[in-house]
Amino acid sequence: MLLRLIFLLLLFYLVFLVVRFFQSLGKSTGRSRHQPDSLPRKAMVKDEVCDIYIPEDEALKENRNGRVYYFCSEDCRKKFLNSGK
Ligand SMILES: [Zn+2]
Repeated sequence: MLLRLIFLLLLFYLVFLVVRFFQSLGKSTGRSRHQPDSLPRKAMVKDEVCDIYIPEDEALKENRNGRVYYFCSEDCRKKFLNSGK
């Protein structure tokens, strides 16, 4: 009688483990679906010439008086250098 009770408890415990296993599976797949990893947060920098914001990794950089300036294109960089700021 006691052995059967223990067996039943073990059986319930196993079912509980299986259910928890599938719940964790569902959670992990759901989480990856809700989190788009195609949108990394990029640092935006300002183009001093045409006043627009561009991603830092796409910007042209120019070091001047210990400050880094960013530009959207070579044209803007030249304009800035010619303006003599
Ligand atoms: Zn520009």
